[in-house]
Amino acid sequence: MKLLKGKKGLVMGIANERSIAWGIANEAYNQGADLCLTYQNEIFKERILKLGKTINCNNILECDVEKITDIKNLFQTLKTRWDKIDFIVHALAFSNKDELKGNFYDTSKSNFRKTLLISTFSLTEITKEAQDFMSPDGGSILTLSYIGGIRTTPNYNIMGVAKSALEASVRYLSVDLGKKNIRVNSLSSGPMRTLAGSAITGARHIFRHSEKNSPLERNPSLMEVSKSAIYLISDLSSGVTGENHFVDGGYNITAIPKE
Ligand code: NAD
Repeated sequence: MKLLKGKKGLVMGIANERSIAWGIANEAYNQGADLCLTYQNEIFKERILKLGKTINCNNILECDVEKITDIKNLFQTLKTRWDKIDFIVHALAFSNKDELKGNFYDTSKSNFRKTLLISTFSLTEITKEAQDFMSPDGGSILTLSYIGGIRTTPNYNIMGVAKSALEASVRYLSVDLGKKNIRVNSLSSGPMRTLAGSAITGARHIFRHSEKNSPLERNPSLMEVSKSAIYLISDLSSGVTGENHFVDGGYNITAIPKE
């Protein structure tokens, strides 16, 4: 039985075939979903159109989440194509690479604002636009987080603050929308070798450290993260909202690494 048969979903945040959003889109397609994919700007367009073809998806739209007009236009266009939307995957983030190193106190006001607007507040804006389109059946909204939002990890800096605020947003949005049967959750992934992942100084050290010290002694694969995402966007998790679900080989439960 296909878990997303008859469901329509929006997947935001594909940059290339390594993107977490791409892994989730692929798995959602395998589970029978009808998809719309978005890309940030022209630079990504050709690549996403090409990737979309491999999963029979022609519903591919531009959306720079820094622009509220882009978010509004996205939903307006979708409403002309679909009668409802069942799930949304928000798998995007941005911060100035130069500030993903060194001291957190050197964060600039402009990058604080930009990082939080793109990586955090966009979830709230997207949710606000989507909610009426999800009713009366309800739906599921999923975002991506990282352990750096609840504990410190080297050089994650302002992105850690953005993830912390993102996880808090998930809790508040889940309370706002629970009465409409709209669920909002985050998936906290272990480190992945993606464009965004490599923007953090010392990414290799972080990758190896969590690989070595996770109970499963490895980082999750893109397939493992994507399968857990399917749980959260499908009816399998119909009783779950406001949660932050770790898919990190168990790394988050350890306090002192074994020798
Ligand atoms: P990625 O680089 O493949 O994806 C990041 C996406 O964000 C890109 O597609 C980019 O175009 C998009 N984006 C940035 N600014 C945007 C804007 N203004 N408008 C629209 N899109 C914009 O990297 P990824 O690792 O797949 O990242 C996806 C999510 O997963 C992010 O939220 C990231 O923080 C999170 N995450 C990543 C890791 C990791 O180790 N890679 C771990 C945990 C969580």
